Amino acid sequence: MIEARLKDNVVYRSFAAEVAAGRVANAYLFVGEDSVTGDAMAALSAECILCPRSGCGTCSVCRAVESGSHPDLHIYNREKKMTVADAENLVSEAQKSGWQSSRRVFSIYNAERLTPEVQNKLLKVMEEPPEGAVILMSAKHENGLLPTVRSRVKLIRLPIWSVGDVEEELKSRGVPARVAEVAARLSGGSFALASAYAEEEGLEEEYDEVFSMLRDVKNTRDMAPYVYSGMFTSERIPRILDFAEIILRDVLVKTSGAEVAKYTYNRDYDLGEIAKGFSAGGAAMALLRVNALRALVEVNISAETIGEKMLFDILEAKYKWRQS
Ligand SMILES: [Zn+2]
Repeated sequence: MIEARLKDNVVYRSFAAEVAAGRVANAYLFVGEDSVTGDAMAALSAECILCPRSGCGTCSVCRAVESGSHPDLHIYNREKKMTVADAENLVSEAQKSGWQSSRRVFSIYNAERLTPEVQNKLLKVMEEPPEGAVILMSAKHENGLLPTVRSRVKLIRLPIWSVGDVEEELKSRGVPARVAEVAARLSGGSFALASAYAEEEGLEEEYDEVFSMLRDVKNTRDMAPYVYSGMFTSERIPRILDFAEIILRDVLVKTSGAEVAKYTYNRDYDLGEIAKGFSAGGAAMALLRVNALRALVEVNISAETIGEKMLFDILEAKYKWRQS
């Protein structure tokens, strides 16, 4: 579970240690692209602040926070967009004393989407924080937040997970192993992205197809069957570029002898076949070229043209930078 992973992570542990020592800031901002991690951090930190044992996870306070029924936990901007009236409500609730705890927690989700009007209202609580009121904001990024707000929150950056962590997490949620493997590799360490990928139909087949294609296309004559196979459609081309990048990244790792974990898994034979003839420079160039092709997707160049160019660019990079 993501909550258990977070509780083991230094980001949460140092936050909890501060709270346990009585050093609670008036406002926090949790920043990270992965919304699944952000939501979990928001929930765990509310628990940590309200629980008399700093987030034991088992007492009645923790359970009430988890079920969303704790009277001193107020949640905003999750299902429903936070309005100026909601912000005014927060300001007045912040002045009251807590029902069960000496603290009140105001958890604001998707903070990057708050309007400037709402943020200006919230500033009142941040500038003159009422005793015991704690604001927890979570956001994908800091853009969209007013500098005046940013200067009054304690910024905490969410952890970035390894591909292995994401894969394990997906499997623990019942995602089939092969799907978990591919989705985790595409996600770049984001649970939110990985979960979205895991729900897509035919993901592993597509990954296998790109692997075979890169293995089998050894010169320009081999390109035609793939270019005209109907594989390159506007729907599929962004994913095909994703997979090609994952594979080429590992070709680069293999050819350069770098000591970093590979993205692909159990594919050493295929990877070795693809890497044949590549120098590290060629692999790096191929990777750059494939990445650059993403710009063509945006401007509506036909998917077939992009697919053809991808294969051609990879071959060209391989031969141009060939080791002599
Ligand atoms: Zn507790």
